[in-house]
Amino acid sequence: MLPSFFDSVLQLVVRTSTDLPPDVRAAMKAASGAEPGGTRSSQALTIIAQNIDLAVDAEGAICQDTGMPTFEIKTPVGANQIWMRQQVREAIAEATRRGKLRPNSVDSITGRNSGDNLGPGTPIIHFDQWDRDEIEIKLILKGGGCENTNAQYALPVELPHLGRADRNLDGVRKCILHAVWQAQGKGCSPGAVGVSVGGDRTSGYVHAKEQLFRTLDDVNPDTRLAEVEASVMATVNSLEIGTMGFGGKVTLIGCKIGALNRLPASFFVSVAYDCWAFRRLGVVLDARTGAIDRWLYRDPSRAIVPMADQAGFTRTGREVALQAPIADETIRSLKVGDVVLVSGRMFTGRDAVHAHLMKHEPPVDLRGSVLYHCGPVVVKEGESWRVTAAGPTTSIREEPYQGDIIGRYGVRVVIGKGGMGAKTLAALKTHGAVYLNAIGGAAQFYARTIERVDGVSLLEFGTPEAMWHLTVKDFPAIVTMDAHGNSLHTDIERTSGEQLEAIKA
Ligand code: SF4
Repeated sequence: MLPSFFDSVLQLVVRTSTDLPPDVRAAMKAASGAEPGGTRSSQALTIIAQNIDLAVDAEGAICQDTGMPTFEIKTPVGANQIWMRQQVREAIAEATRRGKLRPNSVDSITGRNSGDNLGPGTPIIHFDQWDRDEIEIKLILKGGGCENTNAQYALPVELPHLGRADRNLDGVRKCILHAVWQAQGKGCSPGAVGVSVGGDRTSGYVHAKEQLFRTLDDVNPDTRLAEVEASVMATVNSLEIGTMGFGGKVTLIGCKIGALNRLPASFFVSVAYDCWAFRRLGVVLDARTGAIDRWLYRDPSRAIVPMADQAGFTRTGREVALQAPIADETIRSLKVGDVVLVSGRMFTGRDAVHAHLMKHEPPVDLRGSVLYHCGPVVVKEGESWRVTAAGPTTSIREEPYQGDIIGRYGVRVVIGKGGMGAKTLAALKTHGAVYLNAIGGAAQFYARTIERVDGVSLLEFGTPEAMWHLTVKDFPAIVTMDAHGNSLHTDIERTSGEQLEAIKA
């Protein structure tokens, strides 16, 4: 067998989780340059830039959601793919043990987390043969927040703000614009889309994700598709959805389109949305030893240029300090757009915790508390715990529960990303609470605001889903839904919808 194969795959997994490829870095640098200083998007991009640097320096996960590992492997004829698959799975388990990947594989029936990222369908490994005497392995780590914003259209279709999308390339363009508009900031914009035209429902989504293996700065060899890509990129940023949906100049950093043949009756457009934490790398291995011959997407001989030219959060002097537990009058004084720095006790809680609290009393007193939608990466060190990655998760999943939990238990602050819906907004107003949008994917940055882990409840749900008791200092976030019925998310959705109408016209 190939003595270096396992180590090579492990290196690939670790590097992919902790270091963005140069084309994505360049696109994010350009996004930073496009946003005027002092705006919400600009502040968010500053945090993102620091997060990217911190992840490389500490070899820590760029985002706490290390996603669904998806491998595309090409092997010479005659290679033992059964053995390779096993080695890839072991490398994934080892990277998880080392805290480079979050345990992310959950039994869909029981809800049990396997703890090692292995399980039916996890990881995804696609093999292909080629007539070259070397092995190519490409890997993408795509998180759940952006995966949930994927969209598939069966044309012809009537689209809000854009009208009818017919079975032609203009219809394809409309579907892409609609998918980006619909995603708003939930997929941690600015993002990139991989698009497939045609295929069936299944192959369309696979093919769309495959487009994300192209570099952001390449040019589609199919001139017809290149034109659509250019047209989308020329117009999409006028939607002003901006970073995290805060409003701003840059909404998308890439659009990559491929086409498959289709059945006469079907015309699918499948859109795979990837976030700014666009983790994609590859290696070419010696087919006799499995050693890395060269890297794809990156040149290891070139030094990594830091993204941020400063450390720490850019303060404007207008930030509001919040110390938990938080009083009613403090909450009601906050309004949409305020930047806050949260200190004190914070509890994490995401899908399993919210479902649990609908039927059971909370394991801690939540009156005046801060509830953070976060599934952190946590490592045990002796008898204590250390959080190594802790960005926000997509909040809208908790919409069916959040209002009730705020009302029943007196939660004052909910932190997450992407915003929440009308039921939560009403509960914020009735009970005196606010929703804060943290910067999605900034897992390293936020981990450094955590002074200590004070305890954990409901650990039986697995580390990402448990309720962690954290003490934080100066955790920055933006009030995007206040206790007076205002929602920045609703405003941006409306104004970007109006922009779509303008693009259509
Ligand atoms: S950056 Fe956002 S969408 Fe991407 S993996 Fe992280 S939390 Fe999910």
